[in-house]
Amino acid sequence: APLLQARDIAKSFGRTPALRGLSLTIDAGEVVAVTGPSGSGKSTLLHCLAGITRPDAGEVRFGDTRLDRLDEETRTRLRRDNFGVVLQFGHLVPELTAAENIALPLMFAGAERRAAHAAAVEWLGRVGAVECAHLRPGDLSGGQAQRVAVARALATEPSVIFADEPTGALDTIAGEQVLARLLDAVRSRGTTLVLVTHDNQVAAYADREVIVRDGRLAEPAEPYREPDAT
Ligand code: ADP
Ligand code: ADP
Repeated sequence: APLLQARDIAKSFGRTPALRGLSLTIDAGEVVAVTGPSGSGKSTLLHCLAGITRPDAGEVRFGDTRLDRLDEETRTRLRRDNFGVVLQFGHLVPELTAAENIALPLMFAGAERRAAHAAAVEWLGRVGAVECAHLRPGDLSGGQAQRVAVARALATEPSVIFADEPTGALDTIAGEQVLARLLDAVRSRGTTLVLVTHDNQVAAYADREVIVRDGRLAEPAEPYREPDAT
């Protein structure tokens, strides 16, 4: 059975349509790259699948649960229990250190403070950002903030990770390291990963690439064939 399912979802911001009847099914354990031009609706699709944004029309399912029908509080709880989210600008809590940002969701999930803090530092080590443990988001570079956001998403061992340009603020080599760590972690656990990217190399790591164009899924381009010479 599909783990995530969007059926004919539409979403507008004022008069600007972001999604215009998009359908997509994702199975458990799949790594899916969402690509397409800037402004085509990729972030909005990710936010709808992750239960952050409610579509104006259409259905979004996580397993048997209709995400689009849940009230805000229930959706927030469902997200906390099942999803890890890496949004474009990190969305770290500015008053907390990097380690505290990672420890917080672990404590929501029932971990005791010291254990959560120790686990947070361990996850920072795994994404190559242990030196950030005691820094606040305002003192992190863009790349460090993304590493911390990736560590936070991985730390709760969610069944699905949604990541919006998780390597966007990183140079190529640093970006590849972060991505490699993210992929190692999701592949070894069978985590489902939905990854928005404009980077073809990043998309090449995925099991499947879906292309969004003007708020709908585009058919993947036919592979180019040499004209038949015979
Ligand atoms: P992308 O790099 O995917 O094009 P955007 O810069 O379009 O990302 O969007 C980044 C964030 O800003 C998203 O959370 C999106 O919802 C929000 N956003 C995008 N466009 C607008 C807009 N015109 N007005 C307000 N918020 C926007
Ligand atoms: P992408 O991620 O592919 O760049 P988005 O989903 O961010 O695309 O945006 C799709 C369209 O919706 C764009 O025209 C964008 O400006 C608009 N949009 C996205 N989020 C918002 C928002 N919060 N407020 C207003 N317009 C938005």
